[in-house]
Amino acid sequence: QHVAAEYIFRSKLPDIQIPNHVPLATYCLERAAADPELGGKAALIDGPTGTQMSYAQLGVAIRRVGAGLAKLGIGRGEVVMLLLPNSIEFVLVFLGCAVRGCVATTANPFYTPPEIAKQAKASGTKLIVTLSTYVDKVSGIAEVMSIDREVEGCLHISALTQADEGECPAVDIQPDDVVALPFSSGTTGLPKGVMLTHKSLVSSIAQQVDGDNPNLYMAPSDAVLCVLPMFHIYSLNSILLCSLRTASTIVIMPKFDLTQLLELVTRYSISIAPIVPPIVLALAKNPAVLAYDLSSIRMVQSGAAPLGKEIEDAFRARLPRATIGQGYGMTEAGPVVALCLAFAKHPFTVKPGSCGTIVRNADAKIVDPETGASLPRNQPGEMCIRGPQVMKGYLGDPESTRSTVDKDGWLHTGDVALIDDDDEVFIVDRVKEIIKYKGFQVAPAELEALLISNPSIADAAVVAKKDDLTGEVPVAFVVRAADSHISEDDIKGFVSKQVVFYKKIHSVYFVDSIPKNPSGKILRKELRSRLSS
Ligand code: AMP
Repeated sequence: QHVAAEYIFRSKLPDIQIPNHVPLATYCLERAAADPELGGKAALIDGPTGTQMSYAQLGVAIRRVGAGLAKLGIGRGEVVMLLLPNSIEFVLVFLGCAVRGCVATTANPFYTPPEIAKQAKASGTKLIVTLSTYVDKVSGIAEVMSIDREVEGCLHISALTQADEGECPAVDIQPDDVVALPFSSGTTGLPKGVMLTHKSLVSSIAQQVDGDNPNLYMAPSDAVLCVLPMFHIYSLNSILLCSLRTASTIVIMPKFDLTQLLELVTRYSISIAPIVPPIVLALAKNPAVLAYDLSSIRMVQSGAAPLGKEIEDAFRARLPRATIGQGYGMTEAGPVVALCLAFAKHPFTVKPGSCGTIVRNADAKIVDPETGASLPRNQPGEMCIRGPQVMKGYLGDPESTRSTVDKDGWLHTGDVALIDDDDEVFIVDRVKEIIKYKGFQVAPAELEALLISNPSIADAAVVAKKDDLTGEVPVAFVVRAADSHISEDDIKGFVSKQVVFYKKIHSVYFVDSIPKNPSGKILRKELRSRLSS
């Protein structure tokens, strides 16, 4: 009998020993805890205020939060929502949840009340930690979630941060316990809770920064910029947790502001800047940058969306001493699938447009999206990844889990990639629905559900339109209900009231019908081709 060949690709770097039986918080703070000198150095610096917290203080502070959670009756496996901008408190609550054995579901603080309620309900949130300015947004949630019990009301964060660390209960955390629950729509449908366990995150961090050469990517002498939102797994894992593991200093910015970013780079001699393509563009092209000495930056990592070659070249011309490389990942993959920066102190170079090599201790496979056949080198197909870092599944959704992670453990990414003769990964296209606006996820299914909830709309489809500034923007094809005269502005206004800024509809095209296949699936490719014609 003929057995089809399977082409399995591995990292260009050798495998490592991954201690993925260790709980996440212990693993992240292990190195700093073992070295008194590192214990005294700044772990976290709040950029705008200059407030600092050392590694030793951080170790105590997260146990206080663990004790505070226990006191509030939040038990092991229960879900806490972090609805916070980047801040020292975000870090304390996230790691406090980890030591308590709780699950942190991270949400964008700019979400509207219905968006927050949806995530709170889907995740089974028991406690929301947020800023006083957002309390109004969450106060109506109990009603939307149809919670029976009385809502406890508001407590000051000191209920967590000032608890007695001695009362932090000892929890027997298992590697397969879920610790983070970011939301992602994956390859199709509505946003779902991505169950990342202690084991997945420890594995993913180790794949990036552990190994024979522990200074591969980050070192204790590095100051790492954290401007990307911690609620997204790229920032949470590859910036925050990787920096803690390597005992470097994290300079936190609650929001992107170019001038402030430039000032912080010079003030704290920031050496590593993990960013997204629109920020690379600003650094490469904005004239304001020329007034600052950015020579401390030795490495820039760009991820979450493709980086155009022109921007990369312009960046290199402006900061010739810095290494720039892309990383490629997906929330469900823990998230990192491939990265360049492993090469930073390595004799390898990477080609322009490359996302580097597959992470260590993982298998990659490229499959034909139509037939599922495994493809050899240099042929584009759907990227599949397998390894200890991959998610445990989608919370409460075994069907979506099965269609994303197959029975052999392969996570199907919905991205079209090729792996060349030098084991470098190139992302060439995307076959899944999601739209990426400046790296933020927009799920077409979520906007379509909103649109058809309007009685003046009979049917709708949302697809991505290319955009120079943001990468992609969502646009809608709409079939008006009989006798309806709803206008483009009415539709845009209807949506924008209910969603965070990057999910706003940019253009509306009125059509007689939405093209669908016989099983009712929207033919998005056809709609996208109408945009380019
Ligand atoms: P998220 O789960 O929000 O991190 O989104 C993951 C998706 O972002 C991937 O599946 C890709 O479609 C896209 N993406 C991430 N990094 C890159 C990259 N370096 N180049 C192209 N697309 C990327």
